[in-house]
Amino acid sequence: MVSQSVSSSHSKVIIIGSGPAGYTAAIYAARAMLEPVLFEGIQPGGQLTITTDVENYPGFADVIQGPWLMEQMRAQAEHVGTRILSEHVASLDTTHRPFRLVTEGGETLTADTVILATGAQARWLGLNSEEDYRGFGVSACATCDGFFYRGKDVVVVGGGNTAVEEALFLTNFAAKVTLVHRRDKLRAERILQERLFAHPKVSVVWNAAIDEILGVSEPVSKVTGVRLQDTVTGAHAELATDGVFIAIGHAPSTALVEGQLRLKSGGYVWTAPDSTATSVPGVFAAGDVADDVFRQAVTAAGRGCMAALEAERFLAQHE
Ligand code: FAD
Repeated sequence: MVSQSVSSSHSKVIIIGSGPAGYTAAIYAARAMLEPVLFEGIQPGGQLTITTDVENYPGFADVIQGPWLMEQMRAQAEHVGTRILSEHVASLDTTHRPFRLVTEGGETLTADTVILATGAQARWLGLNSEEDYRGFGVSACATCDGFFYRGKDVVVVGGGNTAVEEALFLTNFAAKVTLVHRRDKLRAERILQERLFAHPKVSVVWNAAIDEILGVSEPVSKVTGVRLQDTVTGAHAELATDGVFIAIGHAPSTALVEGQLRLKSGGYVWTAPDSTATSVPGVFAAGDVADDVFRQAVTAAGRGCMAALEAERFLAQHE
């Protein structure tokens, strides 16, 4: 993979982020002859590079691998003429047009439009064993991975709406769903709690935190259980399970635009209805950075397409 250096300092479109939203925006912008520049950031390929099987991205009859899908998107974006820079953007000034950004390497670039596709990061427990089994039994996305747990036992960690929704969603596949929560009551809305408690497949372990994901690495890596610590007594216990879904929230990557763009609750970038336009004309936001609802590769790609088309229209109106 060749990393280009910054040579021309002004662009019509700068895309920040190399997940499905960023690459799709790049493909559309490049094919509209806008000569986009795309910054990959510190996670080239985005969140799908930390998963394995992807079965719900349309166009592939067989299961594909997340990192492979992102390599294909990168190659496609480059093939149609995107200039891809392997750099992280350190700061962005959207107060005046042209917009100005500074890279981690200290170079300054300007752009007529910016597409913010910086994504989000799932919040993890922070255990080494969690990292070891990510994509091999540990997930942060029930919509993405629930289907792989048909007839199996799963654990969901968390106590908010997301955790309860994910637990209920997983009952469509799993034989048994155990919600593990560190306190003695949930934060989730009452109606969700009622559904959860009434579900015959669900049980809740209160006052418990996972301090180790248990598994085997031979012949294939897989999760076999979790070690729980009672948050009141400190006592340890083991719980057998086939999968662990961490549902303790997502953090949208908005550091570049805080105080500049309007954000919505949860810190996601606000966009106009049916649009990727942000509160600053000429700045568009696509993908998980602005999506607190769907958070899927295909929806991120769709929003990336919209952002490029809207940037193109914006440029046409302001030329
Ligand atoms: P992201 O993929 O989050 O990418 C963000 C990009 O922004 C990265 O390239 C990062 O380097 C870059 N960036 C951030 N800040 C900066 C900066 N300052 N400068 C430059 N670049 C920056 N979805 C599915 O549809 N199917 C699945 O099977 C599936 N499985 C998943 C499994 C896991 C474990 C996870 C975590 C997610 C999964 N998802 C799945 C969700 C999917 O990955 C996301 O919805 C999707 O990646 C969002 O795309 P995005 O382009 O918005 O951002």
